[in-house]
Amino acid sequence: MPDHALHSHLSDTELRVRALESLLADKGLVDPTALDAIVDTYENKVGPRNGARVVARAWVDEDFRQWLLRDGTAAIDSLGYVSTQGADIVVLENTATVHNMTVCTLCSCYPWAVLGLPPAWYKSFAYRARAVKDPRGVLAEFGQVIPAELEVRVWDSTAEVRYMVLPQQPPGTEALSEDALADLVTRNAMIGTERLGQDRGRG
Ligand code: FE
Repeated sequence: MPDHALHSHLSDTELRVRALESLLADKGLVDPTALDAIVDTYENKVGPRNGARVVARAWVDEDFRQWLLRDGTAAIDSLGYVSTQGADIVVLENTATVHNMTVCTLCSCYPWAVLGLPPAWYKSFAYRARAVKDPRGVLAEFGQVIPAELEVRVWDSTAEVRYMVLPQQPPGTEALSEDALADLVTRNAMIGTERLGQDRGRG
């Protein structure tokens, strides 16, 4: 839909939310910095911690890992992270030969139950357009070094299917507790724009 690219990337709902926010701020009813803090919390702290616990469980529990890969929705529900979006979650396993990366080329479909709110860049036109065309270039911009022999697979989310990446467990972490392992798992690693055990990228 080329017409879409020419216009604002904000949906009607986003425009209405933005209008309400500025109205409330103008009237002194809300503090915009407090709103930013709430969004930051759900984007970076609360939300992705659910997914990190799913990943850590898969690393320590082989039966759970297999269930997660077979039926991500049910395995994730069993930990109490129930999707309210009515969408299935498919979990993609990174291996020594395959790196998975997720995008929603149409809008910003995202597995909220495990990752919380999508980051602004995930919703940007640049990411949505380039993730499919030039995934290695995008990964490089996130500071990720992807060896040429590693196959990069890009998965386009929809309203019905949301994807989450199961990162590889970093070497040398076998003795860590499940909680300590969860602390190693970043939001971007579960989107697929970071490989754990490398230098942290930006974004
Ligand atoms: Fe979408």
